[in-house]
Amino acid sequence: QDPVVAIVGRPNVGKSTLVNRILGRREAVVEDTPGVTRDRVSYPATWNGVNFTLVDTGGWEHDARGIHARVAGQAEVAVDVADAVLLVVDATVGITATDEAVVRMLRGKGKPVVVVANKVDDIQNEADAAQLWGLGFGEPYPVSALHGRGTADMLDAMMEVL
Ligand code: GDP
Ligand code: MG
Repeated sequence: QDPVVAIVGRPNVGKSTLVNRILGRREAVVEDTPGVTRDRVSYPATWNGVNFTLVDTGGWEHDARGIHARVAGQAEVAVDVADAVLLVVDATVGITATDEAVVRMLRGKGKPVVVVANKVDDIQNEADAAQLWGLGFGEPYPVSALHGRGTADMLDAMMEVL
């Protein structure tokens, strides 16, 4: 049984884009606007010769009142079966209330978490990543899932906790 890595975070931070980047092909559905109903989807992946199962999360109705609870609840199911978690945050936006709902859920789980500061497309944006130390899960890894920037260092860090 390969180790399982869950990718969690609020809608639109780039989770599915990151999945495609790690897989090296466009398999996960990327949406420009959140709100598409999609359950958890698992993909076989490899990094440095190590096989693991990547679980993309999503799956919510567009419901402003319930969105925090829905995102956290959806992520929780994936986290419960995971050996490690990639917590994806949009570094250009910073920490939102929905991110905090996901963080509260993660704290109770005791699973290793790697913070992915996504959408750091240029070196000038790397300062945006530093604010994500505030999530309390250690060093944020600046990444551009879209362009591939920083993903190797982030995956190396993930392997260390797996
Ligand atoms: P998800 O809802 O978290 O799965 O997010 P998606 O992967 O569907 O991406 C949401 C939007 O963010 C899409 O328009 C992506 O093209 C965009 N996006 C994802 N990663 C990056 C990134 O590294 N940089 C930029 N600029 N945009 C990104
Ligand atoms: Mg997605």
